[in-house]
Amino acid sequence: LIAGTPDAEIVAVGSELLTPSRLDTNSLWITDRLNLLGVEVVGKLIIGDDRNRLAAAVSSALTRTPIIIVTGGLGPTEDDVTRDAVAQALKRRIEFRQDLCDQIADRFARMNRPMAEINKRQAWAIAGSAALPNPNGTAPGLWIEDAGRIVMLLPGPPRELKPMFTDHCEARLRAALPELHIATVQFRVAGIGESDLDALISPVYMQYTNPVTTVLAAPGDVQVHLRARCASQQEARALVNEVGAQVETLLGDRIYSRNGDPLEAALGHLLRERGETLSVAESCTGGLLGERITSVAGSSDYFRGGFLTYTNEIKAALLGIDRDLLAKHTAVSEPVALAMAAGARERTKSTYALSVTGYAGPDDGQGVPVGQVFLGLASAQSVQAREVRFIGDRERIRSLAAITAMDWLRRRLMR
Ligand code: AMP
Ligand code: MG
Repeated sequence: LIAGTPDAEIVAVGSELLTPSRLDTNSLWITDRLNLLGVEVVGKLIIGDDRNRLAAAVSSALTRTPIIIVTGGLGPTEDDVTRDAVAQALKRRIEFRQDLCDQIADRFARMNRPMAEINKRQAWAIAGSAALPNPNGTAPGLWIEDAGRIVMLLPGPPRELKPMFTDHCEARLRAALPELHIATVQFRVAGIGESDLDALISPVYMQYTNPVTTVLAAPGDVQVHLRARCASQQEARALVNEVGAQVETLLGDRIYSRNGDPLEAALGHLLRERGETLSVAESCTGGLLGERITSVAGSSDYFRGGFLTYTNEIKAALLGIDRDLLAKHTAVSEPVALAMAAGARERTKSTYALSVTGYAGPDDGQGVPVGQVFLGLASAQSVQAREVRFIGDRERIRSLAAITAMDWLRRRLMR
């Protein structure tokens, strides 16, 4: 039934969605469901409650994409223009349907409330459409097939939209689609920036339009997603695996997870597997490292505890760091990072201890630049330190320091 590649566009309707106070979450949820059916979302629009603008938006979407999903604006009030606008775009009439009116009246009767006259507006449907029942609200959805294209009109409230989509749209859509399967691979990567990563792997993924590769980046956390769309699951799986294997070879042990797990979970997994334990000594991260590690359920299996030693006095008292060492090198130094890690490991009797000391800014520390951080890693064999320099604001520097410390130990354990 669908003409061409079964791609979709989503149009979210509502002036409130164009303000900072309301977010269009429906399109994200719909995208997830469509992807499971092998349908790719190739564009989305947010349009205010304006009939002509919406009609124009739907008209132009219809010229390029065979599946159009419009959400919102099906209510009974003047500002709900979706039905009229889509009718205009499709050049169809709207017609009063007694059966829809009866259903709405019945819903009010069950609630023991009189039906307002304006609710009758919701009994108007686009000519030739199928009505989709809405057990959670008054506005029925509409399903329209038009010359190899499908247009769906769905209510805005998520609690009405979701069951309508899963109960009434998915089966119809599946019947209209060619057989399509999607396979995905995702890598989470640390220790490399977005642009360096892209320079490294783009020569591989640029050779393929299927799978589609996307690189998503947040500070200290880059993700690579591959999605293949094929007529069979085997083909899709084979394609993502083919490209995934090449990407994997290039990224090596910078990949810390393949199942979406965050870094702290990947590290925890390795520690648990080896029956080893970890403790931390933190200065500039102020507990962030311990917080990240303990955000993983079951981290008590391997995490023994931490020291939050902000002043020199507390570093000396809790970790046994020599006051002369602190005076000579200052707290943000390699010798102190080493001593913090060694002290934490000795006091907790853990297999490993990580330490962090640095300047998170915004003020610099007596000639030491903002973003200067020293990390320590103590084990039975050695105590090592690393000097790293981050740029950004305080939050970013602290976060990158915690991530880099965890990733250092993770890579050590992978070897
Ligand atoms: P409507 O169908 O336009 O009357 O929308 C009714 C309510 O549904 C709005 O006030 C929003 O709270 C919610 N809503 C509408 N569209 C969306 C959307 N795209 N994402 C999330 N919520 C929505
Ligand atoms: Mg609305």
